[in-house]
Amino acid sequence: MGRTFDVVVIGGGPGGYAAAIKAAQLGLKTACIEKRVHQSTPALGGTCLNVGCIPSKALLDSSHKFFEARNDFKAHGIQVKDLSMDVALMQQRKDKVVKQLTQGISTLFKANGVQWLQGIGQYLGKKTVEFRPLEGAPETLSCEHVILASGSEPISIPVAPLQEDIIVDSSGALAFTEVPKRLGIIGAGVIGLELGSVWARLGSQVTILEAMDSFLPMVDKQIGKEAAKLYRKQGLDVRLGARVVGAQVKQGTVTVNYVEADIEQTLEVDKLIVAVGRRPYTENLLGSGSGVNLDERGFIFVNAHCETDVPGVYAVGDIVRGPMLAHKAMEEGVLVAECIAGCKPELNYDLIPSVIYTHPEVAWVGWSEEDAKNRGEPYKVGVFPFAANGRALAAHEPAGLVKIIAHKDTDRILGMHAISTQATELVMQAVVAMEFGATAQDLQLMVFAHPALSEALHEAALAVDNKAIHIAPRRVRKS
Ligand code: FAD
Ligand code: AMP
Repeated sequence: MGRTFDVVVIGGGPGGYAAAIKAAQLGLKTACIEKRVHQSTPALGGTCLNVGCIPSKALLDSSHKFFEARNDFKAHGIQVKDLSMDVALMQQRKDKVVKQLTQGISTLFKANGVQWLQGIGQYLGKKTVEFRPLEGAPETLSCEHVILASGSEPISIPVAPLQEDIIVDSSGALAFTEVPKRLGIIGAGVIGLELGSVWARLGSQVTILEAMDSFLPMVDKQIGKEAAKLYRKQGLDVRLGARVVGAQVKQGTVTVNYVEADIEQTLEVDKLIVAVGRRPYTENLLGSGSGVNLDERGFIFVNAHCETDVPGVYAVGDIVRGPMLAHKAMEEGVLVAECIAGCKPELNYDLIPSVIYTHPEVAWVGWSEEDAKNRGEPYKVGVFPFAANGRALAAHEPAGLVKIIAHKDTDRILGMHAISTQATELVMQAVVAMEFGATAQDLQLMVFAHPALSEALHEAALAVDNKAIHIAPRRVRKS
């Protein structure tokens, strides 16, 4: 038998690394097994830091600055001549950010006394984990508790198999070395829209093929409609009801076959991104006698405290139910470490914010108007457009709106939705308010700095009761 630990974590992404750090902080002897090698170096941080949240945001920020310089600077009186994009430099900056953050996790491990075991972990059952290092002989670890945090992987579809750097998944799309002239994307989900935005801003002609007839079905309908309008204006050609049935590469060009309104069509592109979702990754994670069960969709089955069917064995992040989001994974990791240490933590799954990092950003928390309708709850709505917000106009960012849904009887805020520049930061104000059980009136009575984008939140809360100052009141029908 090899080394003994209080806690062994398998997977060093946001779920796993947060769990490991918290467990060590709570005095537990902790190891974290991570097998990832990124650009020839063993790396912590999982999908999020290496090929997900962080590199995508680095490219979104670079491409947005370029787009602004080309299209928006002139409105401020700034003339730019000979503007060009150095894609290689942009990618180097992205890689540097990724490296800084992944090395940061390794530093945090050292500072907190977490042992990083570089290699593959498999939970065997009976408080044992097999550790197969990247180099050297396997070792059987014993431990009181195990936290499974192996994350997710892109879904592949047989009609469009990946092919070198031409038909790629999200990781491939983050590594393009030049701007494709014509870019096809399968799937108009969050990842497809973010990656499409990056390359469209740099000059690609982007076509997104989406099998469903509805656009962003998880988003409040009014916000989704606004988003569709703005994306189209930016040149993203989103084709709904377009199901891809085949893709072939010939002489560097991809011919994509898709069916739209029962008619087979073709699209020729230089690169094709397959962004049709992600699935839980559990390959070789569990030995045959582990006793850990999966649900019918391949997620590890857990209870409200992320404990699997085996006492003392937990699972967090993308391999368990709930949204596939880094912040959800991290909070589950912390929750599980606290459970193991004997605390009684809770995680409010109802108030996990979601964001689409396009420009403008789309961010929301809680119920959409459709949710309120479907649940049969009496509700009221307040909307405020950024076109009437001083700070937004001063910044030349007039697009979008804030929408608040409140309970008609109790006035409690049920949901907040924003499409705007910095919507991510705005939605967090709603999360804080909602965690404290705020009513629309609570927000109405607060003093917001002027000028600020947040004033749109204030005004939307006022608009819930038709009391907004900076837009005309809704006409109330007298009957
Ligand atoms: P992961 O981050 O996938 O980490 C799991 C780790 O476990 C991996 O590094 C893997 O190598 C390792 N592993 C697996 N099996 C084993 C094993 N047997 N032994 C050892 N190691 C193992 N989320 C957001 O919240 N915001 C965003 O802006 C955002 N943007 C994204 C953009 C893209 C392009 C993608 C692909 C994802 C994005 N996500 C975003 C989702 C986010 O990355 C995931 O929700 C998050 O990484 C999940 O964390 P996790 O710890 O569960 O798993
Ligand atoms: P998400 O799961 O949010 O990343 O979104 C992935 C999107 O891809 C979903 O909206 C799916 O409807 C879409 N999708 C899946 N398969 C296909 C296909 N063959 N053709 C077009 N769109 C697809």
